Amino acid sequence: MTTSDEADLLARVPDGVFIGGRWRAAENGRTLQVTDPATGEVIKEVADASAADGAAAMDAACAAFPSWSRTPARERAELLRRAFDLVQERAEDLALLMTLEMGKPLAESRGEVTYGGEFLRWFSEEAVRVQGRYGVNPEGSGRMIVTKHPVGPCYLITPWNFPLAMATRKIAPALAAGCTVVVKPAALTPLTTSFFTQILVDAGLPDGVVNVITTSESGPVSEPIIADRRLRKLSFTGSTAVGQQLLKQAAPGVLRTSMELGGNAPFVVFEDADLDKAVDGAMLAKFRNIGQACTAANRFIVHRDVAEEFTRRVTERVQSFTTGRGTEDGVTIGPLIDDRAVDKADALVSDAVERGAEVRTGARTVDGPGSFYEATVLSDVQPGSDILREEIFGPVLAIVSFADEDEAVRIANDTEFGLVSYVFTRDLARGQRMIDRLETGMMGLNVGVVSNAAAPFGGWKLSGIGREGGFEGIGEYLETKYTLTPDPFG
Ligand code: NAP
Repeated sequence: MTTSDEADLLARVPDGVFIGGRWRAAENGRTLQVTDPATGEVIKEVADASAADGAAAMDAACAAFPSWSRTPARERAELLRRAFDLVQERAEDLALLMTLEMGKPLAESRGEVTYGGEFLRWFSEEAVRVQGRYGVNPEGSGRMIVTKHPVGPCYLITPWNFPLAMATRKIAPALAAGCTVVVKPAALTPLTTSFFTQILVDAGLPDGVVNVITTSESGPVSEPIIADRRLRKLSFTGSTAVGQQLLKQAAPGVLRTSMELGGNAPFVVFEDADLDKAVDGAMLAKFRNIGQACTAANRFIVHRDVAEEFTRRVTERVQSFTTGRGTEDGVTIGPLIDDRAVDKADALVSDAVERGAEVRTGARTVDGPGSFYEATVLSDVQPGSDILREEIFGPVLAIVSFADEDEAVRIANDTEFGLVSYVFTRDLARGQRMIDRLETGMMGLNVGVVSNAAAPFGGWKLSGIGREGGFEGIGEYLETKYTLTPDPFG
């Protein structure tokens, strides 16, 4: 049951598509239902956009591009900064909304508001620091001028697991660079994006600069947008399988693409690690967002001399967790996003156990309304188990052991993914060797969370293309032009 505060908040969330500065119903009048994964109840209906709404959103983004791209960077920066301030003011609303539509405990939603808001602040600062260069060519016969230009209208597709941060991580650098955008949030969690869009409007967003389409038909609505030759950039966060399809669709238009895709993060604990830190790091790396993060530690690779002690300690911690609706005090494990996610976690655990893994705790679905899976620890997971190859996306901590550094590296790199790795060791030289040897775009060395708006977030191998955040993040929305002029003395 939603409480009256929750109902009041939900009533304040815009329920239309947002096109050309106006909220309106979908052209065909259809709506899609949003569900609370902790109760299975429908909490809101929003516009269910069709391809016609997608085309209208593209028209609006293209119409707004000439003036937004020429708007002084300082003005664009100030809009983002005002939006940052409003996110702070409305932090509690944003946090509750995320918990309602996605399920994570409120404390974690508050953490996401901080993280997601930081992209607005960071890129408000970066907007005014876009640099070119000027130089003399080596022959001395000319002057070389390098300038940066907004890439053009962009299409931004976001997943359900971090409804605010995945939106701000794309919208903020795009706007800072002078691009206009069409945003498509996941059908499971459209409310946070709509609420945030209203924050941008209240911060002074000009019409057409950001357009939002909520839809249950992501494929049919997206395809014509991606095929539209006015589009210049596609930025996607989601699964590798969908990313691969979208890359094919982006090929005819030779679109600039950013792909933030799936992960299979190794979490390596060496025998010299500070086990207290490693256990704390493991709790964050594994159970943040109920394990539903691309950065979630998927494989715990622990030296055989400390494997039993590490397993005992993480099991103790996991047994102290409280499972429930994320709005309730003291809850540490909320529901998974839907029943399919529960079935997937359960199937991966069953496969691992059939192949010889030992259940230390959990390994059970929870009856009743909502999509819950008990936090689980598995030890002695055997090579060949599906859980070592696939992204778990649930609260299951799977442990394998190793004998020496080379074996640890071999196991850690034995995946087609390469988003992030975690390493715990007290040996500085070993830590430095791991930076060279692990094939991932990011690494936590004695820490369990790496995300930061000021850092270049992104993956190697099947985990993606491009970087979000950091100095690099705005570059994804800029084109480079080189101009040659003659030697002015020649
Ligand atoms: P998903 O199924 O790939 O969906 C992601 C987004 O793509 C959603 O908005 C979805 O819309 C849309 N989509 C699905 N099929 C589409 C199509 N044919 N054309 C256009 N859009 C389409 O992924 P998810 O289950 O939401 O998210 C989990 C995945 O995201 C995991 O693999 C996770 O690792 C990855 N992820 C990566 C990062 C990163 O930064 N690397 C961050 C977070 C998550 P609908 O849901 O409405 O269909």
